[in-house]
Amino acid sequence: MAYDFDLYVIGAGSGGVRAARFAAGFGAKVAVAESRYLGGTCVNVGCVPKKLLVYGAHFAEDFEQASGFGWSLDEAQFDWATLIANKDREINRLNGIYRNLLVNSGVTLHEGHAKIVDPHTVEINGERHTAKNILIATGGWPQIPEIPGHEHAISSNQAFFLKELPKRVLVVGGGYIAVEFAGIFHGLGAQTTLLYRGELFLRGFDGSVRKHLQEELTKRGMDLQFNADIERIDKQADGSLKVTLKDGRQLEADCVFYATGRRPMLDNLGLENTAVKLDNKGFVEVDDLYQTAEPSILALGDVIGRVQLTPVALAEGMAVARRLFKPEQYRPVDYKMIPTAVFSLPNIGTVGLTEEEAREAGHEVQIFESRFRPMKLTLTECQERTLMKLVVDAQTDKVLGCHMVGPEAGEIVQGLAIALKAGATKRHFDETIGVHPTAAEEFVTLRTPVGA
Ligand code: FAD
Ligand code: NDP
Repeated sequence: MAYDFDLYVIGAGSGGVRAARFAAGFGAKVAVAESRYLGGTCVNVGCVPKKLLVYGAHFAEDFEQASGFGWSLDEAQFDWATLIANKDREINRLNGIYRNLLVNSGVTLHEGHAKIVDPHTVEINGERHTAKNILIATGGWPQIPEIPGHEHAISSNQAFFLKELPKRVLVVGGGYIAVEFAGIFHGLGAQTTLLYRGELFLRGFDGSVRKHLQEELTKRGMDLQFNADIERIDKQADGSLKVTLKDGRQLEADCVFYATGRRPMLDNLGLENTAVKLDNKGFVEVDDLYQTAEPSILALGDVIGRVQLTPVALAEGMAVARRLFKPEQYRPVDYKMIPTAVFSLPNIGTVGLTEEEAREAGHEVQIFESRFRPMKLTLTECQERTLMKLVVDAQTDKVLGCHMVGPEAGEIVQGLAIALKAGATKRHFDETIGVHPTAAEEFVTLRTPVGA
């Protein structure tokens, strides 16, 4: 049977755009549907605007520290509206770039909500298009628990467009988004509380990293409340929010921001017209080749709920395009040693196993750790400390994990990830000459294991 397209991609986010562009480049006839914004979550309400706000928040420290270097500044003023308007302008520019990327690579763009009506047909804007393969790349959506008053809370989707910087913000959650946005609000001058239901935030990260960040954020005056959860939110006459915790305590805020994870975006997608199955958490179930239970339908990125990171969606998009249209170049995505950063202030950068994971996996581990005051701060009053940690297999000398909390941790860990991927041993680290004077050189001068 002749189809209108070889591949119909639903969702022009990180994974969908990558798959569409590469498939078209390999000679396939490709269409992409997008209902909201070109570039998806990352470009519009994720990585990019978030990082711009983090840069904005960081200036508070820069101004504070500048006096140690002889600069005197009149009292710094911050204007939220300017930051948001400039951020919006940059995102508009990126939307245009994404449009050009798609169109110039020969992809047909359909703007509207796409619904699958049968395993080879998509309906959009009242028209039906057939395709040999359909790729679901519809991403995720913030999930707010339905407690009484949840309608008064916002998610990251709204946080990027607030008209004003709230004076008092309560951030709920202990994952990437909660920690990053608490840093943004706090850095920009809002009185910020981070509320997390467990013992210590950032579950799954290395224990030393979690503790170190807790100490640093506390030093900076952020109010961290662990073992705390909200029972209800009530709007008061003056517009402020009264938040009642499960332990009966009450807090007041002008903004309650939930960052409690993301669900797959499957709204009105028409999966009931297919044999596509969902896993026990509601994400689209796929095999190692991103194939769903419906032979003509594939899925990738956040909607499959594996690793919700842009570079992972990009890698999956590439793998799908190659497998379908350039099989001789196909390489499976390697999910081991994925580096990641949390753009808290200070940043976390991490790659490989945490100490806890390494021990659990049966490794006999050697831990190397350093905590120090970065050189840049020695002329300032700032008492921030950087943490660097290596988890090493004592038997093989292989470096299993690198973890850092400190300025530019994400930048530093990207290079270390290549070393770990190549199987670097602690000896390789020791024999590498440092770049002096940097903070990063500490990773090659860690000599004595902790406790040795
Ligand atoms: P998305 O980028 O979400 O794209 C899905 C697209 O599909 C959307 O544009 C959506 O509008 C469209 N769509 C959905 N349904 C339909 C339909 N029926 N018809 C037509 N179109 C549809 N990752 C990082 O690596 N680094 C970071 O710093 C980072 N920061 C983040 C910060 C925040 C606040 C958030 C929320 C996420 C962040 N992420 C970050 C995660 C990253 O954004 C996602 O992992 C990535 O965007 C997933 O790409 P995707 O292609 O799967 O989906
Ligand atoms: P995460 O899954 O990272 O964290 C969710 C947090 O919310 C956890 O601390 C979780 O607690 C808590 N939580 C979940 N449900 C509830 C509930 N009902 N009540 C109270 N707390 C709850 O999700 P995020 O929303 O922060 O981010 C989504 C994903 O986006 C991330 O996992 C990451 O993959 C990606 N991302 C990446 C970034 C980066 O690369 N820098 C930045 C931002 C997002 P518990 O731990 O107890 O389960």
